[in-house]
Amino acid sequence: MIKVTGYAAKHSYSRLKPYEFEREEAGAHEVEIDVLYCGVCHSDIHQVKNEWSNTVYPCVPGHEIVGRVTKVGPAVKRHAVGDIVGVGCMIDSCGQCEACKCGDQNYCGSPNSWLATYNGPMVPKSQAGENIYGKDNTFGGYSNLLVVKEDFVLKIPASLKPEVAAPILCAGVTTYSPMKHWGVKAGDKVGIIGMGGLGHMAAKIAKAMGAEVTLFTTTKEKIEEAQKLGFQAVLEKDKKALEELEKSFDFMLSTVPEKHDLNPFVELLKRDSVLCVVGALEPLAPTDNMAMAQMRRSVAGSLIGNLAETQEVLDFCAEHGIGPEIEMIRIQDVNDAYKKVEKGDVRFRYVIDMASLKEEIAGEQ
Ligand SMILES: [Zn+2]
Ligand SMILES: [Zn+2]
Repeated sequence: MIKVTGYAAKHSYSRLKPYEFEREEAGAHEVEIDVLYCGVCHSDIHQVKNEWSNTVYPCVPGHEIVGRVTKVGPAVKRHAVGDIVGVGCMIDSCGQCEACKCGDQNYCGSPNSWLATYNGPMVPKSQAGENIYGKDNTFGGYSNLLVVKEDFVLKIPASLKPEVAAPILCAGVTTYSPMKHWGVKAGDKVGIIGMGGLGHMAAKIAKAMGAEVTLFTTTKEKIEEAQKLGFQAVLEKDKKALEELEKSFDFMLSTVPEKHDLNPFVELLKRDSVLCVVGALEPLAPTDNMAMAQMRRSVAGSLIGNLAETQEVLDFCAEHGIGPEIEMIRIQDVNDAYKKVEKGDVRFRYVIDMASLKEEIAGEQ
């Protein structure tokens, strides 16, 4: 066993604090990773606070992880010691079901679903019966070391800064996957609702795909920030602006991480177009089926992305020279960072520099 230090929440109401635990040594097909950077995703906060009612404590969050390979199992072929690699939301899936056979590990149909990088199987053992992964809780990237199956470890292209690559592993692929699935292409008009970690990343990816991008935000200050990044931006409550945009979008993506009304945006879709929701994982207010039926519009959902898409979006960002706007923080400041994320104060993704954790560990010895 390997001694690991992370930051964990012990209860839904507690702050993240240093927490020591053990990981198993890398098996034949596994890779040991020295964690260098980890992005702070809004899901981390939902999970720490048990807002999806499935958190197993203690909870060590973090699923936007970039690190350096320090050890490989004897059967590992894809990675070598010294490689800069990434780990996203998943660290395993059943490999047997129809979805896994198609390469869609993120829609794994096994009773335990896919194995999340932290908080174990998305479906708890109590609900799913036998646990195929033998793990009821997994500990994520807010820690100094990780051991992961090689197939679930991504390659970070050399031209991407490792700290910039981190948020691509969740925010990037979560927005890239639906845009690819619904065929966003050059010349399309794409609307992105919400301008946080996911939204600003979605806008950059859509633009790199050749689309004309409009961001929708509730925050006045973000209008100017969106324009600075080269996007058109509209204030959601600007009824006149929304009216002018009716029936004009080929695809829309909602990245808002909480309950919100989709109806004003359904009106903006062209005939046969799709509004996909990736931010909120909860029931939303019903959409008016008259508006949907009259233009054969669809409202859809999408969950993260599969492994191939995760590698693709990393390579895509490297090729197009794009990446998230990040603010680096020390792990000791993560609780304050959570509050700012909840208030929408971050521009646009916090990334934890794990050197701060290593300094803390060294200081204790
Ligand atoms: Zn995430
Ligand atoms: Zn499966």
